Amino acid sequence: MVRKPILYIVLIMFVSTAGCARKGGNSEEQFYLLRQSMVEVQLKGRDITDPGVLEVMSRVPRHLFVPKNRRSSAYGDYPLPIGYRQTISQPYIVAYMTQALNLQGYEKVLEIGTGSGYQAAVLAELCAQVYSIEIVPELAKSAAQRLQEMGYVNVEVKCGDGYLGWEEHAPFDAIIITAAPPEVPQTLIDQLTVGGRLIVPEGTAIQELRLYTKTKYGVSREDLIFVRFVPMIHGDD
Ligand code: SAH
Repeated sequence: MVRKPILYIVLIMFVSTAGCARKGGNSEEQFYLLRQSMVEVQLKGRDITDPGVLEVMSRVPRHLFVPKNRRSSAYGDYPLPIGYRQTISQPYIVAYMTQALNLQGYEKVLEIGTGSGYQAAVLAELCAQVYSIEIVPELAKSAAQRLQEMGYVNVEVKCGDGYLGWEEHAPFDAIIITAAPPEVPQTLIDQLTVGGRLIVPEGTAIQELRLYTKTKYGVSREDLIFVRFVPMIHGDD
């Protein structure tokens, strides 16, 4: 019997080649197939098991969140540049961080680092409301516009410094930081509900994904995997 991941790898090679041969780039159908193989090979083939996360990532059109000339690589197993020296995270990392938040559907979530808006879209499908902060004005503007055009009515994007959080809408049931601070900002821990979860790539040269959970008695920390993110910069840098 042919093992599923192998089948998908063959399929992805076929679809990519077919995509290159066509003059106008990949068709929606090819993107659909690339997306399904991304879920099978990169997510299910590793440790992504949350049915909600898998379903949403098999649906959200990641190719619409990357620059036009990168679309054929949108479902590859790596991050991609999105301009302004920033990147959209690797699909597996988006899935991993989302799964770690264990969303049930009722949550108000804060994201730091909107970037392309892809992670915000994935979250928006799994919770009640997403607030997302981006420090680069051009990225904040284009992500907000993209999400609006795609019909995401439960995402609000603002341009600002994520170190300050979003006091007006706090506390949040979950916080996801998609740029790396040297250490988790206390302001963001303060804006978390009791029982809330915060995931962050913490560190400078070496970064580790850490999951903080706020309890009645304080904050607990779980160390997950080593990662590479762009740095979380300060507003006055
Ligand atoms: N989540 C994004 C990828 C994030 S890349 C996506 O799905 O595409 C990290 C982003 O964090 C970059 O866009 C960067 O400009 C932004 N960033 C860096 N420091 C920040 C800060 N202090 N506050 C808000 N955003 C910040």
